[in-house]
Amino acid sequence: MRHIYLDHASTTPLIEPVISEMTTVMREHFGNASSIHHHGRQAKMMIENARKTIANAIGASIGEIFFCSSATEAHNMILTNAIKDLNVKRIISSPLEHHCIIHTLEHLSKTTEVEIVYLSVDNKGNVDLDQLDSLLRSEAKTLVSLMYVNNEIGNVLQINRVSQICKEHGALFHCDSVQGIGKLSLDVNITPMAFLAGSAHKFNGPKGIGFFYMNSNNIISPLLYGGAQERNMRAGTENIIGIMGMSVALEVALEEREMRAKQVSLINQHMRSRLTELDDIIINGTDQIDNILSVSFPATQKVDMLMFNLDISGISASSGSACSSGIEHDSHVLQHIGHPPERKTIRFSFSHLNTIEEIDFVIDKLKNFTPVKENI
Ligand code: PLP
Repeated sequence: MRHIYLDHASTTPLIEPVISEMTTVMREHFGNASSIHHHGRQAKMMIENARKTIANAIGASIGEIFFCSSATEAHNMILTNAIKDLNVKRIISSPLEHHCIIHTLEHLSKTTEVEIVYLSVDNKGNVDLDQLDSLLRSEAKTLVSLMYVNNEIGNVLQINRVSQICKEHGALFHCDSVQGIGKLSLDVNITPMAFLAGSAHKFNGPKGIGFFYMNSNNIISPLLYGGAQERNMRAGTENIIGIMGMSVALEVALEEREMRAKQVSLINQHMRSRLTELDDIIINGTDQIDNILSVSFPATQKVDMLMFNLDISGISASSGSACSSGIEHDSHVLQHIGHPPERKTIRFSFSHLNTIEEIDFVIDKLKNFTPVKENI
């Protein structure tokens, strides 16, 4: 049976050049980059070339890029050790961040003296940046942790404005850039920040590999202790297969950025236009990236099982709900933007690999489960 994939914000398929690079590395470059013999030196050289690719992609110096297992690992390290090593007394964030930030902050609020402040958000998911500006007028040494693109509703943060506000007040800007890297422009020379992190599987690279940028003015200590890999910042034998896959994936993403953005924009516009055939639809969020379309459906009996029904109709998308103790409820993001809990939200997330014809298929299927406007 045909199955359409509209869950690219969760993970993306590996593209051919990435598979080919990783296959070559698996077959031929098995050396440990810490070894000083031929095989080790070869592995080391490949890793350093990959570092250069990633650094160039975001305008960083090579020495400011570190490989790690995931954005989750990087964010845990950054938030935890910025308190310890940079004398951070307060972290300002938003309630719409990914769980790898929110849950780390919850943990830190219980185990350290740091003050955690969440900015207000409106019902479109806009984070109150005037409030950020005014909070930063106080003296406390502060780290501001805000995401570039929201993974559920797609809102794009005004990173230049946040960077500027942080600069004016001497605060450290930490940006969860996972959903923006490879899609939106991001250059740390234009948008200075202290830290950012990315994850390869969001831009057609492999899972289990990520990287972080740490500005050389605010060095922190590592999360893991052991070997001297990653210039003592991340112990453990380097995942050369993942690093090379990530490097090629980002290179291709940047080469094809315009083409991909055009295709994704067409897909998004087509979906929005065809959604007007359905009754009582709400699009969650504002100023979204074209890759993410969060759609809220009216409460009806059939809509109750929407995710399941889409799945058995051959469509993989993502639900905007979480389940605890068998009771389904809106995700923390939807709750914070005041989404009516009786409605159902589906996050459709696109890539350049999707087609207009797939969107037509999705709309036709949706019509079986949600009310259709009569006069169309
Ligand atoms: N931040 C955002 C916005 C994400 O969407 C994700 C993954 O879904 C993460 C962080 C965590 O990334 P990783 O799975 O690499 O730890």
